[in-house]
Amino acid sequence: MITAKARAVDGPDKSFRAAEIKRRNLDSHDVLIEIKYAGICHSDIHTAHGEWGDVPYPLVPGHEIAGIVADVGSEVTKYKVGDRAGVGCMVDSCGECENCRKGEEQYCLKGNVPTYAGVDKYGEPTQGGYSTHIVVTEDFVLKIPDNIELDAAAPLLCAGITTYSPLNHWGAGPGKKVAVVGMGGLGHMAVKIAHAMGAEVTVLSQSLRKKEDGLQFGAENYYATSDPATFEKLAGTFDLIINTVSANIDMNAYLSLLALDGTLVNVGAPAEPLALNVFSLIPHRRSFAGSLIGGIRETQEMLDFCATHNIAPKIEVISADDIDEAYERVLASDVKYRFVIDISTM
Ligand code: NAP
Ligand code: ZN
Repeated sequence: MITAKARAVDGPDKSFRAAEIKRRNLDSHDVLIEIKYAGICHSDIHTAHGEWGDVPYPLVPGHEIAGIVADVGSEVTKYKVGDRAGVGCMVDSCGECENCRKGEEQYCLKGNVPTYAGVDKYGEPTQGGYSTHIVVTEDFVLKIPDNIELDAAAPLLCAGITTYSPLNHWGAGPGKKVAVVGMGGLGHMAVKIAHAMGAEVTVLSQSLRKKEDGLQFGAENYYATSDPATFEKLAGTFDLIINTVSANIDMNAYLSLLALDGTLVNVGAPAEPLALNVFSLIPHRRSFAGSLIGGIRETQEMLDFCATHNIAPKIEVISADDIDEAYERVLASDVKYRFVIDISTM
């Protein structure tokens, strides 16, 4: 077994503490990654706080992982020691079901193996990237392009792919009006990616506090949702709305902003059910959809797209001692725009 240093949490209202965790010895197709940076996703917070259901504490979150390959199993062909490598929200799947065969492993019919708070094929609990090392089967490791810094690469492994995938699937591009609701970690990536795809991007944020940043990320318009006039002005406007908000919002108000045949895709994942009025959908043949991260092939495509278009998240690198404070700031929508843990401080 390999011992890794980590930061773990023992319960929904506990603080992070230093911990040691075990990583399995390398199987023939496994890659050992020395983690350099790990992003803090709002999903880490939902999970650590027990909002999505029972959690196997102690929990080591982290599914935005960037590092360097430190060792490889005897039959690994895709990676060698020294390569720049990333790991996102899943570390395995059945590989055989219809969805896995399509490259949509996130929708594995047997359930993908999440990077943390899951159980791997050996029956062991999975632990995430707030740690110094991780062992992952090579098919679930991503190549980080040379022109993306490792610290900035980390958030692409969740915030990047979670926004790229629905933008891609629903055809964001020239001639399309795309709105992004909430400009946090996911939201600011959605703005950059949708702009690079050629769409006309509008940000719908709680206030105008971050307007200058939004315009710099590539948005053409920026509105405050606290102003009721925003909803009157923009009624029936958008072909696609990506909702990244981590809390429950008035979905019917946002659906009213869709044009004929428009789609609102919810990637934000609050625990409580939403109240949806079908008459928000029927009159303009609107759709309400969800989307989960993205498959491995699409995640590599997203990394290469970001490298080609010089897209990187705007990040604040923090020490491992500051995770609790970072969580507080994310909850207060005071993140610009992703916290990334420098694992060397562990
Ligand atoms: P984040 O950085 O906290 O961003 C969320 C943003 O939503 C905030 O910055 C804020 O933007 C807005 N917001 C927060 N509370 C709000 C409220 N009460 N009313 C209106 N707006 C509010 O979070 P994130 O890491 O981007 O994650 C966002 C959500 O996506 C989380 O629920 C996370 O679990 C989920 N997620 C889903 C997937 C998936 O595969 N579907 C993957 C990753 C994450 P403004 O300040 O601009 O208003
Ligand atoms: Zn995430």
